[in-house]
Amino acid sequence: MDLTMNKKFYQQSIPERLETLKERTGLKPEDLKGFNPNGGLSLESANGMIENVVGLYSLPLGIAQNFFINGREVLVPMAIEEPSVVASASFMAKLAKASGGFEAGMRSQEMIGQLQVLDLADPHQAAAQVLEEKEALLAKAAAFHPNLAKYGGGPRNLEVRVIEDSPIGAFLVVHLIVDVQDAMGANLINSMLEHLASPIEEITGGRVHLRILSNLSDRRLAWARARFALAELAFGDYSGEEVRDGIIEAWAFADCDPYRAATHNKGVMNGIDAVVLACANDWRAVEAGAHAYAARSGRYRSLTQWSKAENGDLLGFIELPMALGIVGGATKLHPTAQASLKLMGVKTVAELGGIAAAVGLAQNLGALRALATEGIQRGHMSLHARQIALTAGAKPEQVDRLAKMLVEEKNIKLTRAQEILAQWNGK
Ligand code: NAD
Repeated sequence: MDLTMNKKFYQQSIPERLETLKERTGLKPEDLKGFNPNGGLSLESANGMIENVVGLYSLPLGIAQNFFINGREVLVPMAIEEPSVVASASFMAKLAKASGGFEAGMRSQEMIGQLQVLDLADPHQAAAQVLEEKEALLAKAAAFHPNLAKYGGGPRNLEVRVIEDSPIGAFLVVHLIVDVQDAMGANLINSMLEHLASPIEEITGGRVHLRILSNLSDRRLAWARARFALAELAFGDYSGEEVRDGIIEAWAFADCDPYRAATHNKGVMNGIDAVVLACANDWRAVEAGAHAYAARSGRYRSLTQWSKAENGDLLGFIELPMALGIVGGATKLHPTAQASLKLMGVKTVAELGGIAAAVGLAQNLGALRALATEGIQRGHMSLHARQIALTAGAKPEQVDRLAKMLVEEKNIKLTRAQEILAQWNGK
């Protein structure tokens, strides 16, 4: 029997939604048990993950709808506390779906590890000496992690840079480029770097100081593109052309002004972080990479690009570093991450990166579309009102009615919500 009675996903109860996920993916209840309130991370596992554990921290996990990526429907889990993000991503994905959805992917999985070499008489000569020994050094790094080759990865290159204008004088930086395949790669690279420190000291006569990966993973870029037809963009009194042009004008502001770009890119990361978090990945690494990449030209710019197609459609593109893993780190330990990866049907890290990029692009469009037309507050209002109603202590059966009243009164304040509740509850 169809428990969901053809209700839309957002109209369903939580058990109905879980039922729908199983029907749509063919997954079994145990595959999705990581989404159950008691099926997530155990206290025991948490205690093994970090220090001084006293409990667990929860966040809402929602499923974004309508994502059609590389010809496949993807149900996207998003862990986030902010209202409107999941709804906005789902809505924008629906607009994209009408024109074939998103194309997305990643170009490579190469991460960069850095060694800082100090106390050199001539850093340029040391750089040349390191390059002469490149093959031997790469073989040493590979021998330290023979398993990586089995998965198709391994050290790929060694590059040198001399930093001339530093407060401590000139020094050498050696970059080890490693294809980390499906791992996030931080531990992998850091341990390889440790093993290169002594050989590099012997070769150069210098002192290896720092040995650590770079979070500016600009050889591990995820991208997504989508087309939005004018007919899909039109709504209310706004024509498709007006919405498209308003979006391009809003994007141009972000691309030219760091004050606007910071907020613009924050909106992009609302979507990306929520997916990264649902997969128990290192969202700080993704954030660091994204913002450093946005500033790569010397000016902090938009992570997205919006333009007008020849036929007048709106075209969106996003590209940013995406250091994710589907093996290692917390991904295997966290049952919610396992359920998230199964729900998305992700088999490679490149697929996951492409999905996260597509969500970032959709999220950016949601914000730009609202800002360029009726303003962001209108869309936020009813969800914000629900949050205020809950904070004021409304019972589950009172939340919708109270939120509606606050919106109608255009007075979405905690004090007003408490006043109404006191009246209703006869206090
Ligand atoms: P990890 O140490 O668990 O290494 C991944 C392991 O998976 C390797 O042993 C590898 O051999 C194995 N593996 C199995 N199948 C694989 C496949 N298909 N492709 C590649 N490897 C495969 O994890 P990691 O990814 O090296 O490190 C990730 C962790 O490091 C994250 O938890 C992150 O938070 C943390 N970290 C981050 C930073 C930073 O971003 N600056 C610094 C230090 C640590």
